Amino acid sequence: MPRLRVAALEPLTDPALAPAEPGTGLDALTVGRRIRHHRGVKGWTLAQLGEAVGTAPSQLSQVENGKREPRLSLITALARALEVTPAELLDPSPPPTRRAALEIELDHAQRSPLARTLGLPEVSAGRKLPTDALESLVRLHRELARRHDASHATPEEARRANTEIRLLMRRTDNHLPEIEELAEDLVRCAGYTVGALTHRQVARMASDLGFSIIHVEDLPHSTRTVTDLAHGRIYLPPASIPGGHGLRSLALQAIGHRVLGHERPASYTQFLRQRLEINYFAASCLLPRAAAVQFLSAAKADKDLAVEDFRDAFGVTHEAAAHRLTNLLTSHLGIPLHFLRVGEDGALYRGYENDGVPFPQDASGSIEGQPVCRRWTARTVFDVRNRTTENYQYTDTPAGTFWCSSQTGSSGDGGFSITVGVPYAHAKWFRGRDTRVRTRSTCPDGDCCRRPPLDLVERWADAAWPSARLHAQTLAPLPSGRFPGVDDREVYSFLASHAPPAGG
Ligand SMILES: [Zn+2]
Repeated sequence: MPRLRVAALEPLTDPALAPAEPGTGLDALTVGRRIRHHRGVKGWTLAQLGEAVGTAPSQLSQVENGKREPRLSLITALARALEVTPAELLDPSPPPTRRAALEIELDHAQRSPLARTLGLPEVSAGRKLPTDALESLVRLHRELARRHDASHATPEEARRANTEIRLLMRRTDNHLPEIEELAEDLVRCAGYTVGALTHRQVARMASDLGFSIIHVEDLPHSTRTVTDLAHGRIYLPPASIPGGHGLRSLALQAIGHRVLGHERPASYTQFLRQRLEINYFAASCLLPRAAAVQFLSAAKADKDLAVEDFRDAFGVTHEAAAHRLTNLLTSHLGIPLHFLRVGEDGALYRGYENDGVPFPQDASGSIEGQPVCRRWTARTVFDVRNRTTENYQYTDTPAGTFWCSSQTGSSGDGGFSITVGVPYAHAKWFRGRDTRVRTRSTCPDGDCCRRPPLDLVERWADAAWPSARLHAQTLAPLPSGRFPGVDDREVYSFLASHAPPAGG
């Protein structure tokens, strides 16, 4: 098959197509091991080979151990002496023996940045190292690298995993029936009937599963809860507000790991998936499906659906109530919707949609950290003075008109808004549908609200020098204008409004 041959040869004849080798050019240790292998085949000592090619045995030893790169003239001489072709000595793969392959792998592993952070003494992978010790070291390094990859995903990987899970959940209308049923069974056994799930019922759920809940002052900083499986204890942070509703959720999430049979996550995607499942489990305990759907159906029949009522009826946060709607509204009431949590800086922290609302996205399809249109309710709500009730707005977008309801709050990280919205046709079921507030958004078109107005650019482009604030908590970078991480439209507007009067 001539075609196949050509295809197979192409990468070798065209350097631009050749697979990239780590580092520069050929690996010296691979070449060295190959030379040693062929010397062994001939049964020569280093001294004998050295004599044949006119090189000191000590130098040859360095070449064989990858400490020194042989010049091409030496390779040619060695090949002639060992009765092989230079190409055979330079062949990057596969290594001649399993032992050689292990030696090369150990050498690479010990030189990796990850191994260097441990400050271990370097083990020479020479002939004195027993093969079982070599094998053991190589396997330990492999496991170290695997665990490191699993627990330390790069922001890039984290974004990809997040997007993958978001799209997966979108296909199921954010509804996981198995977890719904499991949660309903457990809360019913703990004595739940209607309304809010009490702390006492949560404690009973834990004890039914053989756990007691203990509040401690000294939880590790990087943890939210810690479960002692051996002694059946769930450690939670101290109850700062007696009965604060965050604690029920934390306890339920810890229980969730247990009842959902979670194993130690083997990848970042699996870690995120488990996080999603325990959040889902906690939400479906706090707002159990049958009671929640009954409540929402009655409100829909009255054309008076409202996140705030749902929140108050079940004693949860506004965010928990709004997010729970994404699990139930489409699957049980036939209403598509979107949900957003947006920071005061305009960045999207958490979002879900199955109604086609055009979320801001980066090139990879990731939404976290992306700037939300300034004309969307999630951002206009920050300008509203009255924050005691929800704020309603219709927004015309390139994907149609949406009705949205937003409420603001604040946390240690600053202000945020929680928004739930639906396509125009479904606004009729909601309280606030009669609002007169209406805006027009053409995002992602930059002229909508991203690009600064021309007059401001002309006046300030060469006179502005902002210094970016780093957003450590977001996965994705914020909008980049002329300065990375800085919203230049905001900078120019700020300068324009603070500039001294002309001619002053
Ligand atoms: Zn916009």
